[in-house]
Amino acid sequence: MAALLNRDRVEASFARRLEKLNSRHRRELRELMGSPPRLENVPESWWRKVEEEVEQTTLLMLILIFVAASEQHGGPKDLAAARTFAASRASTIARTHRREIERRMKRQTEAWNRRIASKSAQFARRRDRALRRVEDAKNKLRVERAKARTDRVEGTVARAEQVLRDADDKLAKLDKQQAEPIRPSEVRSATIDAIGVDRAVRVATTGTTQAASAGSEFAIQQTVGFSEADTWFTENDERVCPICLPLHGTFRRVWSQRFPDGPPAHSPGSSPIDAPCRCWISYENEKLSRDEKSRFKRILKQAKERGDTTPRFRGSPGDPF
Ligand SMILES: [Zn+2]
Repeated sequence: MAALLNRDRVEASFARRLEKLNSRHRRELRELMGSPPRLENVPESWWRKVEEEVEQTTLLMLILIFVAASEQHGGPKDLAAARTFAASRASTIARTHRREIERRMKRQTEAWNRRIASKSAQFARRRDRALRRVEDAKNKLRVERAKARTDRVEGTVARAEQVLRDADDKLAKLDKQQAEPIRPSEVRSATIDAIGVDRAVRVATTGTTQAASAGSEFAIQQTVGFSEADTWFTENDERVCPICLPLHGTFRRVWSQRFPDGPPAHSPGSSPIDAPCRCWISYENEKLSRDEKSRFKRILKQAKERGDTTPRFRGSPGDPF
């Protein structure tokens, strides 16, 4: 049997649901951090909410995929088994998601803080200079006014007044500039880096592979049973990574040593080419039973043509062998 049916559609819908959530979380995070953006402004309750919402969305998708995979392999629609598998996975995914956002935003806000600090030191130096110029201009004006009174020379007073006005203007301009050292567009792109679409896609791809594997293994164990010849398949395209590639075509006794639960062979981000695992298992016993089914159909057809109403085949009631 092949990979999960409609895998691309399932995965895309999983990613879309997560991205919808992520987009709201990005907006909330920006508002909570404020300006200048500070991670300390974000309360613990918000982080908990993010974790819970991601967990709920992931849980639902994992259950749906597990059940779909189980049914695809002729297994039961066992919601309890699906929930047991999905609950632990979803909470791990949500916890990792939260930690990853926290880690990235912490690094980013620390860089911003350093920039704000160095900018404000630079600014303080410039302001000091501007302030000194104002004081100098005031002194000069006093001197020129005194000179004008004793020597009756007027021209230089007007010039000294102009110099003071210029120095005052410059100081006022500097004070205005100090506001908002981190641009809103920069904050927006930092939150996209931390909680972006590619995060949603990675979680969805790996989650889909995990749930499809778990559902398939569950169904096979409940029905035709495992075989040593159950074979690992990659998607066999140009996106297959160097971790998955050598597993292609290997039997259960080989792959189960490293991956007892089947695919995925790696978590997102741990592959050298940063591709998520989309592998699946082809089940030997299922293949046999499918072959048997078509053989049965053929026998039935031939029997019908002969007019025989009780054809015998392996696996039927009253099986002779
Ligand atoms: Zn893989």
